[in-house]
Amino acid sequence: MRTTNWIILALLALAMTAAAQQSASAPNNSQGPTAPAASGPAQPALAPPTTMDQVVDRAIMREHDLIKFLAPHTPVVETYLQNLTQDPQLGPIPENDRYFLGRMDLSDSIDRSDFLSDKGKGSKDKDEGMEKHLLGGFTKLFKFQYQPLGFSWMIYADRNDFDRQHYDFRYARREFLGDVRCLVFDITPKKDAGRGRFLGRIWIEDQDFNIVRLNGTYARPSRNSYYFHMDSWRLNLIPGYWIPAYIYSEEGDFTAGARNKIAFKAQTRLWGYNLKTGTASDELTQIRVDSVKDETPAAQDASPLAAEREWQQQAEDNVVERLERAGLLAPEGDVDKVLQTVVNNLEITNNIELPRPVRTRVLTTSPLETFSVGNTIIVSRGLIDVLPDEGSLAMVLSHELAHIVLGHNLGSQYAFNDRMLFSDEATFQNLGFKHIPEEEMAADKKAVEMLKASPYAQKLETAGLFLKALQVRAPQLTALLQAHLGNSMTVNGTVARMAQLTNGAPPLDWNKLDQIAALPLGGRVKLNAWDSKVEMVKAQPVAITSARDKMPFEVTPFFPRLARYNAPNEPAANPVAATTAANPAAATTTATNTTPTPSN
Ligand SMILES: [Zn+2]
Repeated sequence: MRTTNWIILALLALAMTAAAQQSASAPNNSQGPTAPAASGPAQPALAPPTTMDQVVDRAIMREHDLIKFLAPHTPVVETYLQNLTQDPQLGPIPENDRYFLGRMDLSDSIDRSDFLSDKGKGSKDKDEGMEKHLLGGFTKLFKFQYQPLGFSWMIYADRNDFDRQHYDFRYARREFLGDVRCLVFDITPKKDAGRGRFLGRIWIEDQDFNIVRLNGTYARPSRNSYYFHMDSWRLNLIPGYWIPAYIYSEEGDFTAGARNKIAFKAQTRLWGYNLKTGTASDELTQIRVDSVKDETPAAQDASPLAAEREWQQQAEDNVVERLERAGLLAPEGDVDKVLQTVVNNLEITNNIELPRPVRTRVLTTSPLETFSVGNTIIVSRGLIDVLPDEGSLAMVLSHELAHIVLGHNLGSQYAFNDRMLFSDEATFQNLGFKHIPEEEMAADKKAVEMLKASPYAQKLETAGLFLKALQVRAPQLTALLQAHLGNSMTVNGTVARMAQLTNGAPPLDWNKLDQIAALPLGGRVKLNAWDSKVEMVKAQPVAITSARDKMPFEVTPFFPRLARYNAPNEPAANPVAATTAANPAAATTTATNTTPTPSN
């Protein structure tokens, strides 16, 4: 069906078409005075619909409300894509990968600006950096084009023309998604509705009639364009609205005889809707340093060393606050406590006493990385996701703790507030915490010493296995392993960390079902799309029944457990949950050791 020279030109052109058609729908609102009485024009309290037609009208109205509500927001949007190749034993495995990170502007159409434009100045043309990132070797080879906007397009069914003039709605059935009862409709664009119209299925919750899930593609690609298939999920994270949070895309066919062996899987996550929009005046706001109350006895001047430490703390606070403001650092929360427990275990058993406590925070992005600034250790969400157990988490944290213990301070230049004044998208060009190789080696050495004296001494085999699995996949996962702020875990495709642990680990064996070296992405940490908070996933472990179930470092579909909004002050029996479905080993990391449950 597909030929290799098709161009995946996902939907960028569509944005323009849709914008051009925008005026057509405005005066012609389907919820006008002629709408059925029961769902009549915008009344504060609407009577429940009594027919499926009225349900559709209400859903259309709610979709337009959502579009209006989200217009001032500029969430962070991340797409991580793995191109797949068929492995006879393991099935589809990653062949190479791509990573996009940007901010979406939902005001007029859907537009985005990218964090990863090429180094330095930020390119004159904002698409240029994005384009470069997309068109790597793979795309040159197959003449494919991935437009990151394409992956995030399906946050709405149709930004401008979601109405009865453009679409036919056919009721399919009722279905529960998680705790939420839904009415399911199949949607097809009308014959003359034009290109780039949504084709697929929507799930409408049966209380306020918001769309909570969209699954399908866009209809009538032109000869040299191609629309992705997408599964788009919304969560009820604030009262009254269901916020687009996850989009899964997948293309490809590995059945025998399929002509085209090109395939990919991609996860798109949105978060940080409630971040302040980066207006010009916002960027010029002086960063306030939250000063810790001075505990030293009165009438004492700072000694040179005390001044040095104060200075470092100022830099640390600046960086933490700046990253949080850009949506790249999760607010303090439960996951930090898990990390903190492990750090404490390392500190206590090694008699480490530091003038200030070590703090831990979570970077909200997927690429595997850690770094530290002052006494704050920062670990990426993606790295926490793929670590198989607490021992391997200890391995990761011990390296950063070693930098702190050895006084490898980086980032004191950020104590100058002017260095915090940049646009969010320029974060990676303006901040950096990379150590020189000598410091990396010294930190590894110290880390291994600390681990051997810690409660994790007996659990380092899995940590070594994790590094081995990382080594096996490293050549294919360059985007996932590209650190944006700290040192990458690999150098030129080779794992550059903790070689000593690798040597002590047993051989890696995919067929050993009880050997879990690394987990798929998304299995441990869930990120709240609205407020960017992170928490540990609470999922039942699923038994692994074949080597193909292991999916180390891989992308899987999303299957969040939908639930209605719970006010945060009532402890929710079942908090808004988002776990990935195909997660073989979603055992929660706590301070106690948890090992994924293998099948027997
Ligand atoms: Zn390091």
